[in-house]
Amino acid sequence: MAAMTRLFRSSSALFSIRRSLSSAAATEFKPQPSPPRVDPKARNVQWVFLGCPGVGKGTYASRLSVLLGVPHIATGDLVREELNSSGPMSKQLEEIVNQGKLVSDEIIINLLSKRLESGESKGESGFILDGFPRTVRQAEILNDVTDIDLVVNLKLPERVLIDKCLGRRICSQCGKNFNVATIDVKGENGNPDIYMDPLLPPPHCASKLITRSDDTESIVKQRLAVYTEKSQPVEDFYRHQGKLLEFVIPGGIPESLPKLLEALNLDENEEKQSATV
Ligand code: ADP
Repeated sequence: MAAMTRLFRSSSALFSIRRSLSSAAATEFKPQPSPPRVDPKARNVQWVFLGCPGVGKGTYASRLSVLLGVPHIATGDLVREELNSSGPMSKQLEEIVNQGKLVSDEIIINLLSKRLESGESKGESGFILDGFPRTVRQAEILNDVTDIDLVVNLKLPERVLIDKCLGRRICSQCGKNFNVATIDVKGENGNPDIYMDPLLPPPHCASKLITRSDDTESIVKQRLAVYTEKSQPVEDFYRHQGKLLEFVIPGGIPESLPKLLEALNLDENEEKQSATV
């Protein structure tokens, strides 16, 4: 990870070198990868979670990071931390995020480099990235600095994504995410029905819930449009590399998590035991 941190630091040079590479993608698609059995002792996976706003990247990535003993690094969290600080970029970031647009690649790489550097100084190794890369340019830069083992692409129908974003609540004290929406959507065009119970907070969080300022219906729709334009090509980038594992979320966490672990060839009990030794 040291090399990744160092190279990210000099990433401005990479931006210009790599600018023209996006058109060079191969046209041949590789099949879904079959994730290798992860050795829990190695604990240094380098995974990426992709997916539309509201799909649950943070929820699943954070649970897997605990199981695998690697940090969960969400660039959206890094942006919100900076936005809520009194730093020089705070106002600019607030405007961009509240228009549902993407922050510049330069700013994101800078925030991510700082996060990786501070993790490295604490002895972190491996990671699950959530919300990065979100443009092909970001994916190319990441590709230049390190090897990503696996990219998990989470999927849900658009109607569910909007309802989940509108129901999202965050505890202002501990930062945990909850959801007050009950999702009950009939499957269309041969797709199965989707039911998800609300994910309600414990009593000590209930009075401290806040809503993200960009979780309004109009901004969510704008974020979904930006995802289609800028981030869906990132799925193709990794599909061409044979690293993309597609996972259609079948329902709430109790139903979906075991199925995701199975698709990832992970055993929850084994991982938990090895985490305690
Ligand atoms: P979402 O629910 O839309 O996936 P995130 O929490 O990942 O939300 O990100 C919130 C906002 O932070 C995004 O709408 C965008 O403005 C900014 N952001 C996060 N990650 C990136 C990135 N990799 N590149 C550019 N902007 C980003």
